[in-house]
Amino acid sequence: EVRVRFAPSPTGNLHVGGARTALFNYLFARSQGGKFILRIEDTDLERSTRKSEEAMLNDLSWLGLNWDEGPSVGGDYGPYRQSERNSLYKEYAEKLLESGAVYRCFCSNEELEQMKERAKQMQLPPMYTGKWRTASDEEIKQELAKGTSYTYRFRVPKEGNLKITDLIRGEVSWSLDTLGDFVIMRSNGQPVYNFCVTVDDATMRISHVIRAEEHLPNTLRQALIYKALGFSMPSFAHVSLILAPDRSKLSKRHGATSVGQFREMGYLPQAMVNYLALLGWGDGTENEFFTIDQLVEKFSISRVNKSGAIFDSTKLRWMNGQHLRSLPPEELLKIFGDRWKCTGVLLESEGIFIKDSTELLKDGVDLITEVDTALSNLLSYPLYTTLSSEECKPIVQDKLSEVAASLIAAYDGGELPAALEEGHAGWQKWVKGFGKLLKRKGKSLFMPLRVLLTGKLHGPDMGGSILLIYKAGLWGVVNPEAG
Ligand code: GLU
Repeated sequence: EVRVRFAPSPTGNLHVGGARTALFNYLFARSQGGKFILRIEDTDLERSTRKSEEAMLNDLSWLGLNWDEGPSVGGDYGPYRQSERNSLYKEYAEKLLESGAVYRCFCSNEELEQMKERAKQMQLPPMYTGKWRTASDEEIKQELAKGTSYTYRFRVPKEGNLKITDLIRGEVSWSLDTLGDFVIMRSNGQPVYNFCVTVDDATMRISHVIRAEEHLPNTLRQALIYKALGFSMPSFAHVSLILAPDRSKLSKRHGATSVGQFREMGYLPQAMVNYLALLGWGDGTENEFFTIDQLVEKFSISRVNKSGAIFDSTKLRWMNGQHLRSLPPEELLKIFGDRWKCTGVLLESEGIFIKDSTELLKDGVDLITEVDTALSNLLSYPLYTTLSSEECKPIVQDKLSEVAASLIAAYDGGELPAALEEGHAGWQKWVKGFGKLLKRKGKSLFMPLRVLLTGKLHGPDMGGSILLIYKAGLWGVVNPEAG
């Protein structure tokens, strides 16, 4: 059975790197009919917080990466927080002690420091060279009797290689002669990270460990622990780093990096998921637009790239626009309408008004947040007042004066309002007649009209804009304070 896990440390926000790891695990599980497990790695008690855990779960749910086992859903292999699994770590540490795979090390901190210092002077890797690896039972008994505190140290084979086959990188091997015996349990009984991860992956029956490249050095230690515990090893897949456009490691100084930030900025989870999947994966065609269901269908680990993937925020933004416009109309209406109501751009939820506004503005925005200014800019231009406003006078009196005068006449005479009452068709009919009257068409008609009616040189469909401005004035749906 395929069982994969995402194992975040709740010490901050969920970043795009973590989210992509979670996504690849999720896609792999779903494409294989397996299970996606969430485990909270909160052994670092000082830096881990419940608040961060909650925020991470929230971000994962927002992305739609629902887990089959883990916090808040439970499962047969819990608890799913490392801080609640201490007795299990103790149990396995004792097993390893019994089998001789680990030994008690009574070295004091000073002794360990001295070892390090000596190694440094001789330009050797800082390996454990103390006597406890080979100490006699008698020596050990003496220290125990004295009550000297001790750590559990893993007995690393002195020579040879350790080899794994990584599903992305192929064969990875390490020579063991520079590793040195490492601690798996501290003298205060606290288990060490690599040990916890191994016990958890083994006891949670994880079949595939898909995680960031930076964990490769941990894999070496974890593989040794696996062997010592007698568990069969999972398959490993180490995913490359996400890089900034300058190929340095993506970090805060490159702008937004956390999932929550992107949500705030007006990104859709669908677009985030799509974009994150493309960071190191592709289906082998030119196609870049995928829904999550399509990703599940197409995803394969063997297509995940070995080299680093560049995070391109311009492309993400573009992709968001694509997803926004491909939403079912009702969904888009709801998103835009909720946004306008909650930011106060609209006073009332006039259904047809929201529908018209959405239709008019959707092609010009990439982010949900952009609809605020798009609509308030449009509506902050009350049709008639502007025609006679101080601000517009120079334009009106200048080149546009002829168009302006006729436009004002059409408005005051009630002709234009009457046409607008009849919607799009009315507007089109009117504008045609108006052009004839002035002997203008195309650009020389529409440019001045647009400036006079919307106060801008460019914008969405003009007829749609005017109708909206007109309706907003009639219905009072606009919040004059907003924008
Ligand atoms: N807790 C680790 C992290 O947040 C992940 C460990 C793993 O996937 O093995 O980076």
